[in-house]
Amino acid sequence: RCLQCGAVNLGLIFFPPLNGGSRGRSSKWREMLRFPHISQCDELAKSIERDYYSLCVKQPIGKKLFKLFCESRQDLQNYMSLLDALITFCATESVIVLLLIRELHQYLSGEPFTQYQDSLYFDRFLQWKMLERQPITKHGFRQYRVLGKGGFGEVWACQVKATGMMYACKKLEKTHVKRRRGEAMALNEKKILEEVDSRFVVNLAYTYETKHFLCLVLTMMSGGDLKFHIYNVGEPGLDRDRVRLYAAEVCCGLMDLHEKSIIYRDLKPENILLDNSGHIRISDLGLAVKVSKGGTVKGRVGTLGYMAPEVISKKYYGTSADWWGLGCLIYEMTAGHPVFRAQGEHPQHREMENRIQRKQEDYNKKFVKSVKDLCSSLLIKDPEQRLGCGDSGGNAVRSHPFFYTINFRMLEAGLVEAPFQPDPRLVYCGDVQDIEEFSPVKGVSLDERDEEFYSMFNTGSVPISWQKEIIETNCFSELNVFGPMGSRTPDLDQ
Ligand code: ADP
Ligand code: MG
Ligand code: MG
Repeated sequence: RCLQCGAVNLGLIFFPPLNGGSRGRSSKWREMLRFPHISQCDELAKSIERDYYSLCVKQPIGKKLFKLFCESRQDLQNYMSLLDALITFCATESVIVLLLIRELHQYLSGEPFTQYQDSLYFDRFLQWKMLERQPITKHGFRQYRVLGKGGFGEVWACQVKATGMMYACKKLEKTHVKRRRGEAMALNEKKILEEVDSRFVVNLAYTYETKHFLCLVLTMMSGGDLKFHIYNVGEPGLDRDRVRLYAAEVCCGLMDLHEKSIIYRDLKPENILLDNSGHIRISDLGLAVKVSKGGTVKGRVGTLGYMAPEVISKKYYGTSADWWGLGCLIYEMTAGHPVFRAQGEHPQHREMENRIQRKQEDYNKKFVKSVKDLCSSLLIKDPEQRLGCGDSGGNAVRSHPFFYTINFRMLEAGLVEAPFQPDPRLVYCGDVQDIEEFSPVKGVSLDERDEEFYSMFNTGSVPISWQKEIIETNCFSELNVFGPMGSRTPDLDQ
């Protein structure tokens, strides 16, 4: 154990570099990612939706191939370089730039998009798409060690054999799910994760099943959760720079969720995970709920101690519950104990509810004016008055003086360096050794109705995540070669 922080030191038996690179790949990786013959893509070519935005902007591999196509055409080269330059420029948030970008896409989605679909670049896209849709089984992964334990099973560190990419695999034991009627919750978590593509929320890359488990393959977060960092590393609480960065990143994550009308509902230090570079992501979306645009829900959901007053009092609520949660989180990171509770104190439910609804929170000397002001604006009991709950949503939170030194554009582009980087040789959690394996519950049998649910759950690769993985691990650049003069080489046609 590390004497300073109590983290478990696994020394040299730690797993390979996180994004694996070529080092973590199987020696058979080229075979695993061999393009099918173009004639095998006929069905796909007929059924794929010919939507410019999806094919050429949203999907990372599609975007790359469309760009290669444009660059291969003298008349289109300039459009592409202009588009690139404008997107870089966009940081200025100028309306004119945005309009220009729209105009360019408008043009490219016309004739050029039609011609692209007749080119070998689009054929290649279909070939990648076929690889993306290959069935996913446990044989596609190497499994390393347990990272944590959840309600239905453990979370394991795993690695994709074909690319070397590291992920966290959250396993849900089928009989546990059935016994506790967790089907709807599991499916809800899967669907929400699949919909969200945010730098500040754990991403879903694959879903697959084994005989006993349903598996969610998620962004690997190897730096532990914030609860561990607040309480088990030195004095309780975190430095102001860390509080500021984590709060800003959670704020961005909440905004990405809210934009898709998803209310998270379970903000607390345990659910915020650190990656190896020291940035955080929101995780555990089991309680998140999708509402209609600007809509509200009812239901006492969340963890007592972090639930907003309007949630406790069984009213309808919207995103306000999450801004309250952010207030609780910033308070706890700063004070070194949860809001309305002394460290180690476990008040009765009633008492806790009473404090949340009526008590004014105390601020110790660790709170400078700007943090105190931010917390008290987020912890306003009346959701109508609370920061973040107005028409401008999270933008009002971002504009708070506490965040003056944060450049949100840079943060969203992943260009901000974190003030603290976890030591890659340490495992930031209490007792990994104590986590025992989940085994099936006796007396629960699985039948056809369960199969129906499994088939909704197990949909294989999530397109955007899969394409990012292929690009980030350099598999794209190594495999996507074309012959001289753009001819269809043996490599393309096999
Ligand atoms: P549950 O919904 O059952 O509570 P969680 O999603 O919270 O399950 O996962 C359980 C534990 O597994 C977490 O507390 C954390 O320690 C670990 N864990 C979960 N997701 C990841 C991840 N993406 N990377 C690393 N560890 C994770
Ligand atoms: Mg959890
Ligand atoms: Mg959960």
